Amino acid sequence: MTGYQRDEATIASVQKLRFFPQSVVGGHGVRLLSDDGRSLIDFSGAWGAASLGYGHPAIVAAVTRAVADPAGASVLSTANAPATALAARLLDLFPSDRPQKVWLGHAGSDANECALRAARQATGRQGIIAFRGAYHGGTAGSMSVSGHAVQDGSEKAAGLIQLAYPDPYRPELGDADSVLADLAMRLAEVGPETIAACFIEPIQSDGGLIVPPPGFLARLAALCARHGILTVCDEVKVGLARTGRLHCFEHEGFRPDVLVLGKGLGGGLPLSAVIGPAEVMDCATSFAMQTLHGNPICAAAGLAVLDTIAAEGLAAQAALRGQRLRDGLEWLKARHPLVGDVRGRGLALGVELVTDRATQTPAVAETAQIVYRAHELGLVLYYVGMRSNVLELTPPLVLTDADIDAAIDILDQAFADVAAGRVDAAAVARFAGW
Ligand code: PMP
Repeated sequence: MTGYQRDEATIASVQKLRFFPQSVVGGHGVRLLSDDGRSLIDFSGAWGAASLGYGHPAIVAAVTRAVADPAGASVLSTANAPATALAARLLDLFPSDRPQKVWLGHAGSDANECALRAARQATGRQGIIAFRGAYHGGTAGSMSVSGHAVQDGSEKAAGLIQLAYPDPYRPELGDADSVLADLAMRLAEVGPETIAACFIEPIQSDGGLIVPPPGFLARLAALCARHGILTVCDEVKVGLARTGRLHCFEHEGFRPDVLVLGKGLGGGLPLSAVIGPAEVMDCATSFAMQTLHGNPICAAAGLAVLDTIAAEGLAAQAALRGQRLRDGLEWLKARHPLVGDVRGRGLALGVELVTDRATQTPAVAETAQIVYRAHELGLVLYYVGMRSNVLELTPPLVLTDADIDAAIDILDQAFADVAAGRVDAAAVARFAGW
């Protein structure tokens, strides 16, 4: 039995989002070791969670120390030094002239769930503004404010105001002016004083790596501020240096009230954080807690990630390497008509594939075939988007120019193979994807 067959026999389908039969046994830097002995270049970065790659010495040292002499296991009923040190560091990195507090969790989902519930509890308001295409998590509350197609069957928050996310590549679905006008009209209908919070992704991630038009988020945040509506910025995928700045909102000229971090914060361990005004984050006790929240081993990993981002200048690196990767993707666009749009910031890049550049018809089958073929050729990447036609590149921040060049060569080959019909469509169809 192969590793993948053992997985098929034992691991539940409800938690799978699979694109090809990947089965790994180890990892080092940007590379994963597959169980058939191949060395794969991982440009998914485990959906962005492996911010420092695999086996980074800073994480190995911090976790080894913390697990050998752990300061308990949780922050619920005892203070622990790694958790408070991490919280203090996060407060320094997201300064405010008002008192703020930090909540620590395991994942983007529980963090957004906490932000949602605390915003409602603290303001006494129930209404929420969010976007079509947004993915905020897989728990009931985080799904209730999400708008991704994969969750179409989930129950939405009562009174949810769901807006179009303005997409510069597809302005007919809503541009900045029309979306803000739609919001103003809907606020006038329900009364803005009924709205607790507006959930924003500064790049809509699972919705297709969509960078909003310049100025849109600043105008949205100003509108919210006028009505006492908290802005909650979900940087779970694009935060912490990935876009070339420490926080992605820094590109947009606004400061959110509440910042949500996850994925890359733990460098591959389960860790998330919500940072927000003390009156929100202290609105209750015994309110948003899970037994192992504030776990000192995960907190130690988070501190190691933040130390390394600063010590290795990873925000500047992401800007630099991101430009090289983007240049490579533009080169692919010139060679392969399937590429409709290349977009993103730093090392959070998306490539939208279309069967026809004039009609922008989503190239759904071809997208699945390209990620499948890339894996066969030694490159791991996944796809996202409301129409499942956007390649996502969120590699570890520590990648080299040589890794980028190798990945572009593989993608070039994968595009050529798909165009020439050299990919086994039946093999690809075994993987449901999104
Ligand atoms: N927010 C964003 C922006 C995300 O991309 C994701 C996951 N793709 C989540 C929240 C949920 O995070 P998790 O899967 O770690 O719960």
